[in-house]
Amino acid sequence: MHFDPDVATRAYLATLSVAAHIRSDAYFEGGYWLILWDFLLGLAMAWVLLGTGLSRRMRLWAERVTRWTWLQTAVYAAQYLVISTVMLLPWAAYEEYFREHQYGMSNQTLPLWLSDTAKGLAVTLVFGVVAITVIYAVIRRAPRTWWLWGSLVAVAILALLIAVAPTYVEPVFNKFYPLPESPLKAQILSLARANGIPVSQVYEFDASRQTTKMSAHVSGMFGTAQISLNDNLMNRAAPEEVRAVLGHEMGHYVLNHDTKLLLSFGLVIVIGFAWLPWAYERLARRYGGRWGIGDVRDVAGLPLLVALFSCYMFVLTPVNNTITRTVETEADAFGLNAARQPDGFAQAALHLSEYRKMEPGKWEEIIFFDHPSGWNRIHRAMVWKAENIDTADIVQYDADHHPPGAP
Ligand SMILES: [Zn+2]
Repeated sequence: MHFDPDVATRAYLATLSVAAHIRSDAYFEGGYWLILWDFLLGLAMAWVLLGTGLSRRMRLWAERVTRWTWLQTAVYAAQYLVISTVMLLPWAAYEEYFREHQYGMSNQTLPLWLSDTAKGLAVTLVFGVVAITVIYAVIRRAPRTWWLWGSLVAVAILALLIAVAPTYVEPVFNKFYPLPESPLKAQILSLARANGIPVSQVYEFDASRQTTKMSAHVSGMFGTAQISLNDNLMNRAAPEEVRAVLGHEMGHYVLNHDTKLLLSFGLVIVIGFAWLPWAYERLARRYGGRWGIGDVRDVAGLPLLVALFSCYMFVLTPVNNTITRTVETEADAFGLNAARQPDGFAQAALHLSEYRKMEPGKWEEIIFFDHPSGWNRIHRAMVWKAENIDTADIVQYDADHHPPGAP
């Protein structure tokens, strides 16, 4: 009996109820509008900071606190990060707390959400203050070419964040502990050895305190590695599904996706910065008097720089999504070859359909998807199965099959 990937894909999709389909489409399509609202609210906030003279007053206050220019920048940056977080707090509460609860994706209480948000602000302050202070120091040293050096500083800080996140940032939000010994753990470790990933331990973390979503990651750069999977994955997924997911995550590590993403987004950031001097100068010349901001060396103009950069990133949404979707597709292919669990992989794609639309249009996927759609993932897994698993194994699943020699 012939195994048809199209029929198998349909069969997987048919296991989702109509209600589940409608719900995940609504959740995911709502996300398209969130991109727009995030952008517009960011612009509105910049307008408030500049238009009311608040940004100028923040700079004046920083100048009263200290005589050192770099420290004034740091004080301004800290105020900016705190005030913008507070101004956007109601919106963040809707997006991350109320909306997640509305769709049954959150396990958080409001106090826990608030404390996680406070922790997030602390992390943002550490990295954000350093980034802003160094970039403004660069602006003052190289008024003409700062966009190039400044963007490289931004990329360097992003690299630092990626490098230290598993050790210093993620444990701020979740507890990581060794996964108890089990046959599955032994299989995960042997899958890691087979793919040259230098680990002797598998970690689990308590993501269920925040969310119902399943996830895992293999993190680390420069010869270090850590495999972490969240407790939702362990509790909700079958062993073959866990192996399929980890095959994918190991693909990210083996294919150096952290480095590739850093280089790709590094290029995006450099181009985005290249546009800033021209745009800032024009707007500051026209509205600078009203807003109380000077040329680009004036840190009070930061909201304008951020707003301009956010316009660029908004327009680039399809490009940025395509960059990540491309490496995700590579990791899918790697994972199928490594774990050899096409059905586990299809099952994982079904689970992820809770928060990602299964069957988008072609352009919808290109513009909005940072991972391949569920349909694409299941279909590729089924094509892989048809071409890579011995037909003798497949016919076992086929109810219509009559063994050779049977009447
Ligand atoms: Zn991935």
